[in-house]
Amino acid sequence: MNSKEYMERTEQAVLHTYNRFPVVFEKGEGVYLTDVEGKKYLDFGAGIAVFALGYGNREYEDALKSQIEKIIHTSNLYYNVPLMEAAEKLVKASGMDKVFFTNSGTEAIEGAIKAARKYAYLKDGRTDHEIIAMNHSFHGRSIGALSVTGNPHYQEAFRPLMGGVRFADFNDLESVKAQVTERTCAIILETVQGEGGIYPADPEFLEGIRTLCDEKDILLILDEIQCGMGRTGSWFAWQQYGVKPDIMTCAKALGCGVPVGAFVLNEKTAESSLVPGDHGTTYGGNPLACAAVSKVFDLFEELDLVQHVREVAPYLEQKLDGLVQKYEFLSGRRGKGLMQGLVVTGRPVGEIVKKSLDNGLIVISAGSDVIRFVPPLIITKEDIDEMIERLEQSF
Ligand SMILES: *Cc1c(COP(=O)(O)O)cnc(C)c1O
Repeated sequence: MNSKEYMERTEQAVLHTYNRFPVVFEKGEGVYLTDVEGKKYLDFGAGIAVFALGYGNREYEDALKSQIEKIIHTSNLYYNVPLMEAAEKLVKASGMDKVFFTNSGTEAIEGAIKAARKYAYLKDGRTDHEIIAMNHSFHGRSIGALSVTGNPHYQEAFRPLMGGVRFADFNDLESVKAQVTERTCAIILETVQGEGGIYPADPEFLEGIRTLCDEKDILLILDEIQCGMGRTGSWFAWQQYGVKPDIMTCAKALGCGVPVGAFVLNEKTAESSLVPGDHGTTYGGNPLACAAVSKVFDLFEELDLVQHVREVAPYLEQKLDGLVQKYEFLSGRRGKGLMQGLVVTGRPVGEIVKKSLDNGLIVISAGSDVIRFVPPLIITKEDIDEMIERLEQSF
């Protein structure tokens, strides 16, 4: 069968919620993907910031295979060994205290919202708590996560959403303060906004939010689903700001392709929020997903990936800045580590992304005017040079 037939049959059977690019991927090796026609693509999208290790990592694949041969699923009614290992490693990397594994980023957000509401409920017994979220944020598509996603376009048809959400402007502390009431239980934000267009939090903004939260005993929820797991040059982006969340959400690169997310609590929140009966999941934290997470942490250490990001990212920044200098329709670069965006003015981003694909380069868009670069974390300077070359062809 050729690509065209695969695509047609897929569209016959799969609900049309994505306008997919016309390519059918079959396999991957390192930072390259190959489609069913045998064409190779340099991948600077990593399945939306997921495949940090690159494709075809033998040790990762062997760990999954060996777990499959032992046991894939047990449910949370019982203990399993990979759950213990994965949780310990996530606790260590984050310096936080308690982990709840989910099957996706969206579910991690749901859990974080529930934990925050329960914490506030135990404090004052009220049932009308509010959450402050940011405009242009993205936290997922379920009703709870969508309710804190600051994009009216995604929300409109699905109202009424979860109540008690107020929106403020990212990187504008006064606008956040203006939304605080005696009912505020949490402030949720991405440390680096991803889908909204690659906006890193300003240090003063994040510090100000932390202080505000401390003063009023409001919980700070940092969504590290896209910017976490080494992508910005530290395990989690907030670790570069000297502030610590009360709850962190994690997913995407956490399992490097095996669907898994987590919300992670500090001691204060863990001690006084969710208890048996409050929250659960059939799959969450299952042995297969946790074997992936556990191996991902091991391989990050073995490959010294976080340090590698710190070494290679300045080169990517320099090259992208070069493009901004060279091309009039590029108006700037934003980002942190290997999470970068080029701001495009006066040309449709979608066309550049499409043209790049034709030229064997995968980049993705973010917001309405940004080309996003979220490559596997193993990329080298040579990969960056090749990416720039193919991107310039696409321009
Ligand atoms: C992708 C993403 C989510 C949603 O995660 P899913 O795994 O798609 O449910 C939430 N927040 C951020 C910041 C994301 O990038």
